[in-house]
Amino acid sequence: MNEHAGEQGRTDDVELDVVVVGAGFAGLYLLHKLRGLGFATTVLEQADDVGGTWYWNRYPGARCDIESIDYSYSFDPELQRTWTWSERYATQPEILRYLGHVADKLDLRRDIRFSTRVASAAWDEAASRWTIRTERGDTLRCRFYVMATGCLSLPKTADVPGIDRFRGATYYTGRWPHEGVDFTGKRVAVIGTGSSGVQSIPLIAEQAAELTVFQRTPNFSRPAFNGPVPREKKAQFDADPAAYREAGRWSPIGVPSEPTMIRTFQVSAEERRAVFEGAWQSGDLLAMGSTFADMGTNPEANETACEFLREKIRSIVRDPETAETLCPKDHYYGTKRPCLDTHYFETFNRPNVRLVDLRRDPIQTITETGITTTASSFAFDAIVFATGFDAMTGPIVAVDVRGHGEQTLARRWTDGPRTYLGLMTTGFPNFFMITGPGSPSVLSNMVVSIEQHVDWLSACLDHMRARKLDVVEPTPTAEAGWVQHVNDAADITLYPRAASWYMGANVPGKPRVFLPYVGGVDRYRKICDEVVSRDYLGFAFDGPGGARCHDGVVQRLQLDVTMVLEMIELLGLPPIETLPVPEARAGMQALATGRPPGPDVGETRDGTLPGAAAPLAHRLYRPSTPGPHPIVVYFHGGGWVLGDLDADDPFCRDLCVRANAVVVSVDYRHAPEARFPAAVDDGFAAVRWIAANATALGGIPGKLAVCGWSAGGNIAAVVCQLARDASGPAIAGQVLVTPVTDSDLTRPSYVENGDGYILTTALMRWFWDHYADPSDRSNPKASPLRAATLSGLPPALVLTCEFDPLRDEGTAYANAMASAGVPVEHLACRGQIHTSLTAVDVILSGDHAREAMGAALRRFFVA
Ligand code: FAD
Ligand code: NAP
Repeated sequence: MNEHAGEQGRTDDVELDVVVVGAGFAGLYLLHKLRGLGFATTVLEQADDVGGTWYWNRYPGARCDIESIDYSYSFDPELQRTWTWSERYATQPEILRYLGHVADKLDLRRDIRFSTRVASAAWDEAASRWTIRTERGDTLRCRFYVMATGCLSLPKTADVPGIDRFRGATYYTGRWPHEGVDFTGKRVAVIGTGSSGVQSIPLIAEQAAELTVFQRTPNFSRPAFNGPVPREKKAQFDADPAAYREAGRWSPIGVPSEPTMIRTFQVSAEERRAVFEGAWQSGDLLAMGSTFADMGTNPEANETACEFLREKIRSIVRDPETAETLCPKDHYYGTKRPCLDTHYFETFNRPNVRLVDLRRDPIQTITETGITTTASSFAFDAIVFATGFDAMTGPIVAVDVRGHGEQTLARRWTDGPRTYLGLMTTGFPNFFMITGPGSPSVLSNMVVSIEQHVDWLSACLDHMRARKLDVVEPTPTAEAGWVQHVNDAADITLYPRAASWYMGANVPGKPRVFLPYVGGVDRYRKICDEVVSRDYLGFAFDGPGGARCHDGVVQRLQLDVTMVLEMIELLGLPPIETLPVPEARAGMQALATGRPPGPDVGETRDGTLPGAAAPLAHRLYRPSTPGPHPIVVYFHGGGWVLGDLDADDPFCRDLCVRANAVVVSVDYRHAPEARFPAAVDDGFAAVRWIAANATALGGIPGKLAVCGWSAGGNIAAVVCQLARDASGPAIAGQVLVTPVTDSDLTRPSYVENGDGYILTTALMRWFWDHYADPSDRSNPKASPLRAATLSGLPPALVLTCEFDPLRDEGTAYANAMASAGVPVEHLACRGQIHTSLTAVDVILSGDHAREAMGAALRRFFVA
């Protein structure tokens, strides 16, 4: 390559394979890796040395908060063996020394151009090459353009009025002077109480004459208990470094861990406290969020941790008003990135430190001499901005990146970033991002995520070279599917509820989109590997080797559905249809133990009511609100063979709360002991009796709806037809949850989803065989879709699931009822399976469907 060190405005005459922007953890490893594969690579870096984050953030107290043993490269066993961290959480200078050592050891600097900021990158369609221009006027041409520009490398423009008027010194934590700052005898302001503020405030307070902390949002922080590398951790690592690293790679966060399955309210308040105390004492950033399985998803569970942490703050900070101001109350733990500190809260006990609550007393302006808030004026010698970064997308769109047809990336991402796997974006061929939006990145130990992206990308370029493919770009289908999955996954969690930088909420005008992928490092790695194993699913390649594309969406199931399926697979259970009926029933019951119980209701009462042939057991759920209430008669699922009053108990509770209705769950007779039409005859008898006895049950006469899941949905649908034909009782509405409506097992949904999603075609056949003779199956009392007419039925909500063999018959029934003039709402649930919607507090992505059921029932009762 044509190197003219120090020369400005030059155009390289050698075409490079790859230009990488950024010389932090990502750029350094990428250079090493690509060089090893023989790709001509140049790194451009605006700083005058390597280090990235650790080059820029030199503020007092800066250090990592993932333990250094984990927060370091794993790709080079020798580097790992020869480098010893002096502390559990290394300081910024030590991490910078480490990265300098890596650059020297691997002789990387010779291919890095420092003090070179990239201004633009344009795709040359005709040549299939990128043209890169730097601010100093250099032009480079390359086949592949990679932004390893970091997620937290562009400090946020300070959005405080009057900032230019201040005559004292101003400092940004993310651009700290190399020579350091001496605050001795100075009156200092710090604006911002995120990780950078929390780390720097205690040390600035020790030096300054006075320190005033301007806090907009208090943050959760715990003591790091920093010190020597913990002996146990070191022993674990030294015993088998390779195995230790592999465990990190296949963990959710990128640090070896044993995720708990225990939920917060499964243990007593005392036990909970002890678990939280253990997390507090551990000094481990990840410990608090991993205390219980539902910390990230259940608001009430999370609130117990929040309150524990608030109590800690109150116990440390002596002035009760200051303590209260420091207590986070507007977000759940972990939804804004939590901090690890050394004496942060203790600092507010110092006589030279005061706290200004900007929520109560906002900054009006910065003046020549200090800061004026609505209530006071403060004089300062220095102001420190610990105000954070334009995270994840900021450094990428700060460069004028132009793809197909001169389209700019900034424009394409106006409403938020769209990527495939956080690696590429459509319209920008041969352009890659390391830890881009849509990948786990900032929700993980970033070095692990960086290594995974670098390895994946290098393998991809190698693959292309071997097959004579010059150009790669994700397909719109693959990208849309991934964006959907990233959003769906985030929506399961509490993350989107906080105004965090994860959501872009810290930068005025930035779209509110959840930026990283919450699925975890391990799952994400598996997905990326799957993409490769399926012939680079969702990527289109072109070149002398030909054009090739295996288009598709890599992750179509909801994240929590995938997790449940994986857990069930681990259990290694025999297929239900291979079991004798009693064993199948016992198996169902066993699976139900240990699941979340569903919400509390006002009252539950077990009893019997008259069935078609004999008394039927039922369970009544009454809301805690004052009655009388409308009544929902519910029929459980289980293919007419399995299930009982306990089987759908959490779902009935959920329905009772959401619909604010009495739910009467009726246990009809089961096959094979009582075959068709016993179940529907019992269902109809029960509805008639409940309608006639509504007042005694605490119900409102005339306000009765039916609901059922699966075979129970079949019973509910048939009961509506029987009531119509018998001119009563009046049914206000029907909620059919993935119902059986027809005995035809050849529809496309049976072909597509016949295996692997719990309810299989084989199992459905087993159910039918136990329930009804073939000659009975076309009877509308077995297959309600085959009724002579569907007109005159009650309004309906029909819910179908994408990966359910029963999907198409549910859809057909909804359509047929609508064609017959019945008011029908059909909710097709994306990424869900047959068992999703009744799995209360397990499949959280089914919550919006459960809410729709509650809403529909409330509507039926108003009409
Ligand atoms: P960076 O280190 O940010 O490097 C990107 C480089 O790109 C920078 O040097 C920048 O100058 C350069 N660049 C950007 N745009 C251009 C351009 N247009 N032209 C030329 N050069 C450009 N993560 C953890 O996992 N654990 C931690 O404990 C942790 N602690 C952190 C502490 C601080 C103070 C901060 C700010 C972040 C921390 N992070 C932590 C996140 C951290 O950013 C990553 O861990 C990691 O260092 C990112 O490496 P990178 O190479 O991807 O990006
Ligand atoms: P940050 O978490 O975004 O915190 C910025 C702080 O400044 C917040 O308290 C914010 O308040 C406040 N702020 C922003 N604009 C303001 C304004 N106009 N007026 C008043 N207050 C304002 O940024 P950060 O502390 O630099 O940390 C960013 C990320 O870098 C961290 O989350 C972490 O991932 C990483 N980091 C890690 C470490 C570590 O311990 N290893 C250290 C530093 C950084 P609001 O919350 O109200 O917006």
